[in-house]
Amino acid sequence: MSPSPPVTLNARTAAPPLPARTRLAVVIARWTAAVSRRLGLGSGGVIGGRVALALDPSALRRLSQGRTVVLVTGTNGKTTTALMLSHALQTLGEVATNGDGANMPEGVVAALVAKPHAPVAVLEVDESYLPAIAGEVRPECLVLLNLSRDQLDRVGEVRQLERDLRAVAATLPDTTVVANCDDPMVTSAAFASRRPLWVSAGQRWAADAVTCARCGRTVWRAGSEWGCECGLARPDPQWTLIDDTLLSSQGTALTLDLRLPGLANAANAAVAIATADRLGVSPHVTAAQLRTITDVAGRYRRSQLSGRDVRLLLAKNPAGWRETLPLLDPRAPVVIAVNSSEADGRDTSWLWDVPFEDLRGRPVVAAGARASDLAVRLTYAEVRHTVCRRPADAVTSLPPGPVEFVANYTAFRDAHQQLRDD
Ligand SMILES: [Zn+2]
Repeated sequence: MSPSPPVTLNARTAAPPLPARTRLAVVIARWTAAVSRRLGLGSGGVIGGRVALALDPSALRRLSQGRTVVLVTGTNGKTTTALMLSHALQTLGEVATNGDGANMPEGVVAALVAKPHAPVAVLEVDESYLPAIAGEVRPECLVLLNLSRDQLDRVGEVRQLERDLRAVAATLPDTTVVANCDDPMVTSAAFASRRPLWVSAGQRWAADAVTCARCGRTVWRAGSEWGCECGLARPDPQWTLIDDTLLSSQGTALTLDLRLPGLANAANAAVAIATADRLGVSPHVTAAQLRTITDVAGRYRRSQLSGRDVRLLLAKNPAGWRETLPLLDPRAPVVIAVNSSEADGRDTSWLWDVPFEDLRGRPVVAAGARASDLAVRLTYAEVRHTVCRRPADAVTSLPPGPVEFVANYTAFRDAHQQLRDD
């Protein structure tokens, strides 16, 4: 397959002027967000976005017109990849982005409202909202990172998501779909695109792609290759990540040398570099930008709490845990905090898919609203542990020194807030 030429920022026709209704929606949304911030109710983004959509249901489409938009979706790595891309693309111009992780329609609109004149937008999108948002935005690039089980009660079945993403890819003929070809699920979806851009970014969690998304037969694997009798098979990648080196089929080779740890972040970087390259940013420029990132919305940040040197890590589903476990300092005790509020998904059955057996022999504290469920799982994994529901107490129950604190979504958010305020 011959590579498509890079997209340039002026490839799109100039945006039509915003209608009065959209302009009014933007003004009132910005005012609402400012009031919300002043009252100490948070960043105000989501409420502002909600107001904008209530006043003008076409706000998403109208505010996207005339911009170069990249949508980033997948089960894991959305926030990190969107942050990486916004660093890379700021070399082209101002970037509107929902860096706070508000990835449903109101958060996406809020990001556009906050920077109405930014020529570029990098938007993380919740995978279940991607069809609706992509249909309105019609992005220049759609990044499909990976698909695996997550929040089964809210997001639903991986296979249904794949079918939905496949349908979206088929309806966006002008969109470059950047996909990890080591994940058979996103590959199946991206094959529906007229402009796929394949990145071999690796995939350690394969349990959700044992059978083919297209026909249900068993997917065969041999080294990095995979395929199915029906003809679905791993395409030749334009970009290949090998350890810390990213190679392009055009002969570019660069060392990532990120400050963010782990293979998952290297995979996110590979996808970000390939996407930015398609949009006209040199891979070397992007790689240099990515080396300046040291944390992602508090993840990997170290904080002090009563003499404990706490490193915050986020893991909210089995594939995320598979990437996080190898990052843990073997000398440090581990606090695991699990909540199950609406934003986490109420169903915690995923705990049984995480290989907690890897933590045997080291001190572990179970914390969070679902500490008891976690404790049962740790017991079956034969991991000796204590239970301390309040995360801060869990940390201080350990001796002074380094502590690895791994939490799912709201438990992470609360701990990050608390450690920042202390
Ligand atoms: Zn098949």
